Amino acid sequence: MRIEQLPSDFKHALPVLEEIEKAGYEAYFVGGSVRDHILGLPIHDVDIATSAYPEEIKTIFKRTVDTGIQHGTVTVLVGEDSYEITTFRTESGYQDFRRPDQVTFVRSLEDDLKRRDFTINALAVDRNGNVIDKFDGLGDLDKRIIRAVGKAEERFHEDALRMMRAVRFQSQLDFTVEAETAVAIRDNAYLLEKIAIERIREEFIKLMLGKAWQTGFADFLKLDLSEYCPSFKNQSNELNKLLKLDNVPFLDEEAAWTAIGYAMELTPKQFNKMLRDWKVSNKSRETSVSTDKMLKNFRDGNFDLWDIYSLGVDNFDRVASLCKLFKIDFDEKVLTEKVRNIPIKSSRDLAITGNDIIKILNIKPGPEIGKCMSQIEHKVVEGTVYNNFDKLKQYLLSE
Ligand code: ATP
Ligand code: MG
Repeated sequence: MRIEQLPSDFKHALPVLEEIEKAGYEAYFVGGSVRDHILGLPIHDVDIATSAYPEEIKTIFKRTVDTGIQHGTVTVLVGEDSYEITTFRTESGYQDFRRPDQVTFVRSLEDDLKRRDFTINALAVDRNGNVIDKFDGLGDLDKRIIRAVGKAEERFHEDALRMMRAVRFQSQLDFTVEAETAVAIRDNAYLLEKIAIERIREEFIKLMLGKAWQTGFADFLKLDLSEYCPSFKNQSNELNKLLKLDNVPFLDEEAAWTAIGYAMELTPKQFNKMLRDWKVSNKSRETSVSTDKMLKNFRDGNFDLWDIYSLGVDNFDRVASLCKLFKIDFDEKVLTEKVRNIPIKSSRDLAITGNDIIKILNIKPGPEIGKCMSQIEHKVVEGTVYNNFDKLKQYLLSE
């Protein structure tokens, strides 16, 4: 196969390939960008693989950064653009099911493609647009399947994270996992225990945010991967509930976590623990916990504008999307309007400060000030007093 018209991201990078070739080495576009272009999807980063060693790349280009030189990756800066250039390599060892004991730089493209995870990720394109396809990745793109390069079982023993990557790509691309690869995942799912939770989480979030997340999530459960993830052991009945929902993409990571906690019927405390076990960032965890509380308020029909405000107005859209997903009824139009009209996001946005209150009421600093502030905050949120210095002053003096 030959790509007649290279996409603009590749065209921009052509001078880089040409420079490398001029110096007597080979260079190709590889990995995700090739796969996504052939599928007609937008490309994010263009990765280049080369027979030149990192030191050789550094003599060819003036501006380079040693991004991962021990793995063979050098970033080359050209004008505004930057490209990751990785030396062809093979990997061996993998005594710990996650990292090769040894990386060896090689001069053969085929050897480099062999170490890649899936056939659809093992395609290369030269500067004339010729596609190098040693493992029928093109056929698999056509059949829309994810198939390991070589023996799936061995490949998952080398690096167990690949099993998570399989279901992640399944979700992002709406593909299926090829039968033999799927069996190897189920047989080796326990190896996930060897992988750092941060790396599993990264793939899992990509899975949950993919356009066909239910497809990926279904296999994540069916192939037992979930059993080796934090808080998910013996939870497949609860987690399966998510597969019955409409297949609408989640708004963000926090929406996905909240949906999971909701399906598992976790208390706020249990939900918080689950997110800690997954080592979710503090910010995401706090946002998810507030979203979960607001969602339950809506479900129970037991809340007012103040509750929404104190859990964070920024969470409202996420909660509204989750209500649709879980078929929780609420008066969306009226409430959206009301929430949009809350003039402040926190007490910091009030048009008056504690010092102003001291002056206006001519009182000494003390707990009284806090009480006044909180009263004003309520009034502003309810919309009974304008958030304007003179109006707030008037209100204070009238109380
Ligand atoms: P994305 O669109 O998410 O960037 P990608 O295919 O580019 O997808 P990356 O994680 O950026 O994925 O990796 C780039 C390439 O490196 C992959 O296409 C694959 O060829 C190879 N690769 C990445 N991770 C692994 C792995 N764990 N085992 C084998 N090959 C891998
Ligand atoms: Mg990539």
